[in-house]
Amino acid sequence: MKMSSLFVQTLREVPSDAEVVSHQLLLRGGYMRKLAGGIYTYLPLMWRVLKKIENIVREEMDKEGAQELLMPIVQPKELWEQSGRWAVYGKELMRLQDRHGKEMALGPTHEEVITALARDEIRSYRQLPVNLYQIQNKFRDEIRPRFGLLRGREFIMKDAYSFDVDEAGLDVAYEKMARAYTKIFLRCGLETRMVRSDSGAIGGSVSHEFMVLTKTDSGENDVLYCDKCSYAANSNNATSKMLPAELTGRFEKAEIVDTPHTRTIEELAEFLKIPSTIICKALVYIADSKPAIALIRGDQNVEEIKLQNALGANEIRIATSEEILELMNKNGFSAEPGFIGPKGMKNVRIVADFSVKDLKNFVVGINQTDKHLVGANWGVDIDLPELFDIRLAQVGEGCPECDGHLMITKGIEVGNIFKLGTKYSKAMNATFTAEDGKEKPFIMGCYGIGISRTAAAAVERYHDEHGIKWPVQIAPYHVVVVPVSDQDEQQMSVASDIYEKLQKAGVEVVLDDRPERAGVKFKDADLIGFPYRITAGKTLSEGLVEFKIRETGEVMKLTPDEAVEKMIEVVKTIS
Ligand code: ATP
Ligand code: MG
Repeated sequence: MKMSSLFVQTLREVPSDAEVVSHQLLLRGGYMRKLAGGIYTYLPLMWRVLKKIENIVREEMDKEGAQELLMPIVQPKELWEQSGRWAVYGKELMRLQDRHGKEMALGPTHEEVITALARDEIRSYRQLPVNLYQIQNKFRDEIRPRFGLLRGREFIMKDAYSFDVDEAGLDVAYEKMARAYTKIFLRCGLETRMVRSDSGAIGGSVSHEFMVLTKTDSGENDVLYCDKCSYAANSNNATSKMLPAELTGRFEKAEIVDTPHTRTIEELAEFLKIPSTIICKALVYIADSKPAIALIRGDQNVEEIKLQNALGANEIRIATSEEILELMNKNGFSAEPGFIGPKGMKNVRIVADFSVKDLKNFVVGINQTDKHLVGANWGVDIDLPELFDIRLAQVGEGCPECDGHLMITKGIEVGNIFKLGTKYSKAMNATFTAEDGKEKPFIMGCYGIGISRTAAAAVERYHDEHGIKWPVQIAPYHVVVVPVSDQDEQQMSVASDIYEKLQKAGVEVVLDDRPERAGVKFKDADLIGFPYRITAGKTLSEGLVEFKIRETGEVMKLTPDEAVEKMIEVVKTIS
């Protein structure tokens, strides 16, 4: 490809609405253009990157026995009603009507469509196991589309679905996908960590995310990992051993005491001269429009995704002061927020974190303004509510699996695997005839990779102030050949010769034949992020060209033939 005909317009300025590096560089490098919020045109350079990632994904999926198909983007409402998700998926689902007023949706994911397909096509255990996948544009009307391709509204996803006769079969399918994913990302030049995660709206019980660990803020997820063993989890799912703390209060008798102006745990601890670890904190949430109370030890924080799961809710948020007062009124109290407690509360779901279980003679709100109950004990003064893990694990706490400690880093989730079990097959009545002649629901798994997000994650991971440093495996082209001056005949002829030899050898090469200053060509080469640059310039007087590695900045002086050989070698090593 000659640069003069390549469809690429680079930008010198950082686009004002692009917050993160990958967004900025992909716009500046002429990889994509925005059409609407979270919706982009992939220009030729981007499309080459995306196709490379897709092909790596295809090869590794196929190696594990998965088969590619393609399902429609537009899905009828009826299927979503069968799974029960039409009502609960919320505003992320882009809904539309056809000319007959029939309701449809743009697929954000395809569990419904594939389960309906399996229901119709798979009759017997003999047709199992099977794993079907597609690579396709997905649409999610995200609340905050941002960060360019990292969180788009329309984006490319690989989604796979496995069907098995039993749990053991699912375990095997899951393992295969975990293996394929690790290989896929490595082949894209990305080291990932497989971390435990929350299953969210997709459901199921076991799930893992594949995270590219980043230092930048573009990693939207906090990942907690052990400094000793391989434990790693998204913070919304991480557990930990809490550090030793005082759990028994000095109050020997249960009594209600005055605690004026102690709305926060800090104020209360300070006023009573006690550590916050012997306070039982009560927080009021609204879970799918109903109030709920969460209890947790005073020094700890609630992890809202865990709480949402404990409550079995689709959506939760902290209650407003008005909502708290309303809840108080309903229970015959008039306490202000800051003095809430579980005692005497009826018609409201109360859940407690494990961290409160061992508290003795502790302090807790008693639904009276400016007062607290001190010296409280479970089972004596207050019933212990249902216990869950709803606590946010923190850096420095003990690893749940060994005697190491938890560290924290940011991560970009590029892939996700779920054991769905019978969640969709039962809801949609998708069964097969088992070996014993009985009708059984399929045991399913689903496995996603964000193709476009993976490309952006690679930019987040590999760049410098000048531009992108693509891993050669997914770079749009392997190498750019730059004659310093298009007016210099010798430079042009050496560059053209290298270009032709590389092309013949199957190396993906661009010849920068533009009548531009050398500085402009070098800047563009760095910005676009060609992994290698061969420059025909001054050193030609010694019969040499410059061979530059973008990643390390290393420059070698080689003869034109050596440079060609070296590039051919590089490309051979791409697996
Ligand atoms: P997130 O928590 O980031 O919203 P998710 O849990 O909703 O992700 P899945 O439903 O598991 O994601 O989708 C599979 C993969 O698709 C994700 O691992 C991610 O790589 C990608 N993906 C999800 N949402 C987006 C998006 N809005 N833009 C780009 N890629 C996305
Ligand atoms: Mg999401």
